[in-house]
Amino acid sequence: MKKIISKVLSLALIASMAFAFAACSGSSDKKDEDSITIEKGKLIMATNAYFPPYEYYDGDKIVGIDVEIAQAVADKLGLELQIEDIEFDSIIAGIQAGKYDIGAAGMTVTDERKKSVNFTDVYANGIQAIIVKDGSEITDCDTLLDGDYIVGVQTGTTGDIYLTDDIGEDRVDRYSKGNDAVLALIQGKVDAVVIDNEPAKAFVAANDGLKILDTEYTNEDYAMAISKDNEELLKQVNQALKELKEDGTLDAIVEKYIPSEG
Ligand code: GLN
Repeated sequence: MKKIISKVLSLALIASMAFAFAACSGSSDKKDEDSITIEKGKLIMATNAYFPPYEYYDGDKIVGIDVEIAQAVADKLGLELQIEDIEFDSIIAGIQAGKYDIGAAGMTVTDERKKSVNFTDVYANGIQAIIVKDGSEITDCDTLLDGDYIVGVQTGTTGDIYLTDDIGEDRVDRYSKGNDAVLALIQGKVDAVVIDNEPAKAFVAANDGLKILDTEYTNEDYAMAISKDNEELLKQVNQALKELKEDGTLDAIVEKYIPSEG
């Protein structure tokens, strides 16, 4: 009899242990499901903060259109926004490696990039503009492409990718920041800079003797990049963007940084 009781007891013990294990793994599963971001409660955004007015330093704070849109999205999702300023060229790889939740960097949607990351709905448009020195003999896109001019670009941007395709490696000088490409133009190391139109305007306004040509190299859509492994975050960010568009928040943020004329 004693033996039977102890057998029953040990079975009960095993059963309760198994239950405890099940409860354990059950609760940790739930924890993962709860968090749609890398760190629970946080939205980690990768950007390159030398791209005014989308992202730039105001003192030691990073501000701009992308920052405010990402903040509004984070607020809607109940997450705290954390910004990481890295090389533009490392953003997509970092998202793929699971280091950042979103890339918000005036990033153009391209078919090539779509092979590596998902893009949210488009929230802005950009143009690749051509900056030259006042009095330059480069007057439009064709003169730029057909001559043997050297063009400065920011590494890994669409300006870099498309120009390298059009005129070849030898005529493209790459810089890690847009500012450095513009500095090279001022110093006469390159003949022109191809960069997105809004930063182009900011760089031209900040430096004497430069102008933007009245001609576009390409017209592009900006969206945020998210890991292909995180469909749920993509869905939620798109929903937030949709609501922010509908209630006028997106337009108000853009208007704050790029006031429409008139
Ligand atoms: N729109 C360009 C691109 O996606 C440049 C973006 C940037 O320099 N931040 O390549």
